[in-house]
Amino acid sequence: MKFKCQECSSIYPLNGLKYQCDCGGLFQLLKEPGEKVNCTVSLGEVETPVLNRMITGINFALKLDYMMPTGSFKDRGAYILVNQLKELGIKEVVEDSSGNAGSAIAAYCAAAGIKCHIYLPESTSPGKIKQINAYNAAVVKVPGSRDDTAKAIKKAAEHTYYASHVYNPLFFEGTKSIAYEIYNQIGVPDYIVVPVGNGTMLLGVYNGFAEIGILPRIIAVQSENCAPIYNKVAKQEGYRYQPTVAEGIAVQTPMRIDEIIAAVQKSDGKFVTVTDEQVISAQSILNSMGIYVEPTAGAALAGGIHYFKNGYNPDLKIVVPLTGTGLKK
Ligand SMILES: [Zn+2]
Repeated sequence: MKFKCQECSSIYPLNGLKYQCDCGGLFQLLKEPGEKVNCTVSLGEVETPVLNRMITGINFALKLDYMMPTGSFKDRGAYILVNQLKELGIKEVVEDSSGNAGSAIAAYCAAAGIKCHIYLPESTSPGKIKQINAYNAAVVKVPGSRDDTAKAIKKAAEHTYYASHVYNPLFFEGTKSIAYEIYNQIGVPDYIVVPVGNGTMLLGVYNGFAEIGILPRIIAVQSENCAPIYNKVAKQEGYRYQPTVAEGIAVQTPMRIDEIIAAVQKSDGKFVTVTDEQVISAQSILNSMGIYVEPTAGAALAGGIHYFKNGYNPDLKIVVPLTGTGLKK
């Protein structure tokens, strides 16, 4: 396996410090036929269940990805990334996420015996870093804005391996497993409704089903308060970012934006936005059914309710992955 630049096709090794091509292009994973990551590190990954529930008159197949070891689907990415890093003999990594990705990478690094440093803005609430701390990761609090943290992580990545959930294609190689699971459980759905920030789940869904050979239509859901991908597709300029309860998808500058747009368009899918009120309402519906999820999972369901309210027929197979547990807050 190697990294290949999406822009100029230059080849880079998996174990180098380069996380992006010298030309500025992002990496994709280049594999020989049949080549697989040898996984020896496990935290007890499960094939997450699918529950069929009638919600606002629409039958949704809810894929319970909050049942992964650290409480979110990000474990799919961390599992493959960290296993490959262990195989490569990498002993120390840096990453920057205060959310589910940071927890997942910290947990798998703990299991693999890899030293892990998580860079966060100083303003990150203690509650959010509690889980990362528990896994014995070294938390580096960076004064200033999110941009200052981005600068600090890039400095650190000059000498320590960057186990990024955004740049490193091995993470996306891992999130593909959701497509294979859905395929084994219910076949190819007509639609899959995915919340989108950096696109870690969306690109996993797309790449996985592309390998399987049939694409469901991908409905990509962004928060109205932070919708850079939706706005680019709709050619809306000059939007202003505002905070959203769906913090898992509050990404103002998604690095893989063009890849995400291409994936949704190739699937004949659509981008939609939802308001915080719709997110909270959908989360409450799930909670009231005994399904305790984070607001970002509510965003996916809210997107589904919104998209299908005028165009539903009972023959449609619609999957909504529920990204993370409500227990972290
Ligand atoms: Zn390049």
